[in-house]
Amino acid sequence: MQAALIEWYEADHRDYPWRQTDDPYEILISEVMSQQTQLDRVIDAWEDFLDEWPTAESLAAAARGDVVAFWSNHSLGYNNRAKYLHEAATQVKADYDGTFPETPDELQELMGVGPYTANAVASFAFNNGDAVVDTNVKRVLYRAFDIPDDDTAFTKTAADLMPENRSRVWNNAIMELGGVACEKAPNCDTAGCPWRKWCNAYETRDFTAPDVPTQPSFDGSRRQFRGRVIRLLGEHDEMELDTLGHRIRVDYTPDGEYGQEWLRGLLSDLSDDGLVQVDEEDNQVIARLH
Ligand code: SF4
Repeated sequence: MQAALIEWYEADHRDYPWRQTDDPYEILISEVMSQQTQLDRVIDAWEDFLDEWPTAESLAAAARGDVVAFWSNHSLGYNNRAKYLHEAATQVKADYDGTFPETPDELQELMGVGPYTANAVASFAFNNGDAVVDTNVKRVLYRAFDIPDDDTAFTKTAADLMPENRSRVWNNAIMELGGVACEKAPNCDTAGCPWRKWCNAYETRDFTAPDVPTQPSFDGSRRQFRGRVIRLLGEHDEMELDTLGHRIRVDYTPDGEYGQEWLRGLLSDLSDDGLVQVDEEDNQVIARLH
């Protein structure tokens, strides 16, 4: 599961500019900005901020009022965060000789830096963090492993799961999974979730989670598969049952749970609705658009 997730993340992910740096100052700015602002909007603010104050030292030397004005001009939420950032830069300069500390515990000594942010900076800048446990990660773990909705269980499972000395890539990867695949309404198939063959929720079709108390719509729902069948039959004049099955779902196996019987049921519904015609020819089941 570790290898599959890292491979999935490395093959493709949202390319935020702070994912291309290991500078702790740049990462700290991105983390503080993202606490209240959507990531897509943070990009411009983050770039402008670093144009203005490219290092902790330059931020420490700035007038606090200028930093607060920047914050409100860019609609970044509570102005206190700007004050704390300025104070944190002053601490780095005065207490750490201009060099950021590298452990989550030490990073928490910086003004306004809580356990989550300290761990994110330790992971992404120094590959030296613990497993992140935020709302997205809890949702992923709860669904994948069917663990109780309990903070101790989340922390332990997250820690057990993280490959040793790989907090940078791992925390990025599992948060990406929660952000683009295991969302409140999960996109298991469309996002190509690499954990489908192990995931408890995927198997049981129960996608509730601590932050999702009722069953959300799922991208693998019947309606979606109906849509795929219609689209494929529109592209091909006719298709044989197994060929169609393999094209509409990655976990199709002729004799499996999502196999011929399941697909015949789907085609039979589509046929009842007058959309598809199903014929047996030479021991083969052939589907066509009606
Ligand atoms: S298979 Fe679906 S529910 Fe399971 S971890 Fe992946 S995205 Fe989440």
